[in-house]
Formats: sequence, structure tokens, C-alpha cells
Amino acid sequence: MQGKYTFSIIKPDAVRANHIGSILVMIEKAGFSITAMSMLQLTQIVAAHFYAVHADRPFYKDLCSFIASGPIVAMVLEKDNAVVDLRKLMGATNPTEAAEGTIRKAFATSIDYNAIHGSDSDQTAASEISFFFPSRKLLVKQPAII
Ligand code: ATP
Ligand code: MG
Repeated sequence: MQGKYTFSIIKPDAVRANHIGSILVMIEKAGFSITAMSMLQLTQIVAAHFYAVHADRPFYKDLCSFIASGPIVAMVLEKDNAVVDLRKLMGATNPTEAAEGTIRKAFATSIDYNAIHGSDSDQTAASEISFFFPSRKLLVKQPAII
């Protein structure tokens, strides 16, 4: 049984191009509920940590600079099979290979500027969610006051 939550970022290229609303429409129409959301800009240090898995790749430095280059929208998305279904909705990393109807087909302009991030496993989703939304568990579990 796959998890119900994934983590996503609308990347700086899509924010700069005013595509936040259009991307959220696609996400909601695909059956996801947005359960947490924050607009923020990453520091270089946080960017390096976020993409640490790619530290040995030749594109790592440019990737970190790009993700820290402007505001992003960080989100927790809820749906059955969330991780896999969001990756399908995002489309291939390289937009020239992305299928029709995917977010990257519509909004990515290159492999470097590809509009959206989505967690690649339930484990990654859990660590990305707790990194970006450390108080989330507390908020979800808080009992109603009235
Ligand atoms: P993301 O992690 O950003 O959601 P992804 O999971 O589709 O994207 P990854 O393999 O995790 O792809 O790579 C992270 C990012 O690094 C990609 O979004 C892309 O911008 C960049 N990248 C990946 N492979 C290459 C490559 N061969 N050349 C240049 N950039 C690349
Ligand atoms: Mg990835």
C-alpha cells in the first residue's frame, strides 16, 4: 500500500512566469488535496541539503543555484498513491520527453527549468515534508478548541 502524502515544489521558473495558479488547478483536478502550503525562498545552504543526493552530479551547483534563485511554493499533497501519481502528473524530468497533459509538458522550458518537483519515494516524501513543515504533525493532531 503506497502512502497518502507527497511533497511538491513549484520551482522558481514557474513562479516567475506566473504559473502558480495554473499548476495548482492541474494538481487539484488530478484529485490531490493541498494539505499544507508555503511560499518561500531557499538559501544556498538549504538548497544544497535538499539536493544533496545529486552532490556528485555535474549539474549539482547550477541546480542548487536555480532552486534558490527566487520564490518557490512548497506543498504537501494528499491522495491515494500520492508519490507515484504526482510523478505521472509532473511528466518526465526533460520536458522534451514529457507526455501531453503533464505539468512539465505545459510549463517546463528545459531540463534545468522544469517547473515542478515531486518526491521520488514515500521515504523521501516523509523526510521532505518534515523538513519543510516541521510543525505539521502537531497541527494535524491538534484537537478542535470549540
Ligand atoms: P526533481 O527532483 O527536481 O523533482 P526529478 O526527480 O524529475 O526532478 P532528478 O533526477 O531528481 O529529477 O534530478 C533533479 C533535477 O536535476 C531535475 O529536475 C533537473 O532539473 C536536474 N537534472 C537531472 N538530470 C539532469 C541532467 N542529466 N542534466 C541536467 N540537469 C539534470
Ligand atoms: Mg528528484
